[in-house]
Amino acid sequence: MRTLIKAFLTACIVSFFFTVTANAADTVKINDLINKMTYYNGRLVTVEGEAVGETLERGEYAWVNINDGSNAIGIWLTSGDAERISYFGDYKHIGDTVRITGVFSENCSEHGGDVDIHCDRMDIVCKGYVKNEVIPRTKIIAALILFGSASTVTVVYFTHRRFQSKLDARNYISK
Ligand SMILES: [Zn+2]
Repeated sequence: MRTLIKAFLTACIVSFFFTVTANAADTVKINDLINKMTYYNGRLVTVEGEAVGETLERGEYAWVNINDGSNAIGIWLTSGDAERISYFGDYKHIGDTVRITGVFSENCSEHGGDVDIHCDRMDIVCKGYVKNEVIPRTKIIAALILFGSASTVTVVYFTHRRFQSKLDARNYISK
């Protein structure tokens, strides 16, 4: 029984590593696709990169741009797949990292000779997020000074008012 469990665990670990390495090896850099367009034309390829810009809706389908740091490419995918992407990279966001498997075209007949990938399968590898806005130190200092002077004005105003009403009350009594 123990040998059986051992064999099963070994098989699990081996298949896990095989899947991981196979996936990594299958991913093509977008720049390699562009450089070897004729070789990859009509082939099933897998690219992985950040969804950038915005979705261009085309009825039941959509265009999404993927940038893997080496280059960018237009992906033609179902609008359902496009909706699964939560964030697109721009100056305020880090886009979702997606893995796209589909047929690469150097001269897509369906899209007026575009270089594109028609997506068969999309996986979200990593969800994007909103970038933390870095506030310059001068802005923080200015805000603190403004807050400080506003507080001082408020305190002075209320102290003065309290003093004034006490004075008024005393004047009223003395009258
Ligand atoms: Zn196309």
